Amino acid sequence: MPGEIVEITPTEIISYPYNTSSPRAHCMFEWVYFARPDSVMDGREVYDVRRKIGEILARESPADVDLIMPIPDSGRAHAIGFSVESKIPYEEGFMKNRFAERTFILPDQRQREAAVSTKMNPIKSTVNGKRILIVDDSIVRGTTLKKLISMLRGAGATEVHVRIGCPPVIAPCYYGVDMKTRDQFIATDHSVDQIRQIIGADSLAYISVSGLIEAVGIPEADLCLACVCGKYPTTIPGEVHRYQSTLGEGFVGKSE
Ligand code: SF4
Repeated sequence: MPGEIVEITPTEIISYPYNTSSPRAHCMFEWVYFARPDSVMDGREVYDVRRKIGEILARESPADVDLIMPIPDSGRAHAIGFSVESKIPYEEGFMKNRFAERTFILPDQRQREAAVSTKMNPIKSTVNGKRILIVDDSIVRGTTLKKLISMLRGAGATEVHVRIGCPPVIAPCYYGVDMKTRDQFIATDHSVDQIRQIIGADSLAYISVSGLIEAVGIPEADLCLACVCGKYPTTIPGEVHRYQSTLGEGFVGKSE
């Protein structure tokens, strides 16, 4: 718990709460992407939250398609939830090369784009001639999605729609997640329709902030939503602090 020290000895576990009044700000990205699906945090199982995100997305932004496909692995539970709620069949349309490097950590754009095609391949018999809706956990730069959509069209998909289980990422994380500056986020200076055009999708929709909070099932006051709302749970010079009404000196970012 916030403000708790736990001592584990060979014979017992001892808890020392030293500050019970600390406000909470649990990272919403743990439920959306980081945590293992079988983890339980604050009583909320990650897999169950991701399925609920998919269900809410299906209600908020339905689509007339033939099948629902995840971007493996992190979009899988979101896509299952979308499929169950929309009653549209779920299919695995991408085969993932588990030995390929993670594109997120490669240093430059050219390497990231090249890595996507060695990392994932479409299954032609599944996608050929189909209207497909792909579900992913989030969009940061959009590089991977653009390449995957073009690969699906190359494999014969007639339409490719995209649904995202996290609201647009617009602000950096100062709490340890490797997001650097605003100009790295495609959503900072592009509308949803501009992003749709850039990635080459037939339609694009993100879950709403209220939909995400509903799926997580924890009060908004106990969550950190800074990278999607721009309001930080602690004071960051030049950024909005959600417990104060004033901005720090030199604020230049988005407040909503
Ligand atoms: S800013 Fe975003 S990634 Fe960072 S702790 Fe908050 S919710 Fe998590």
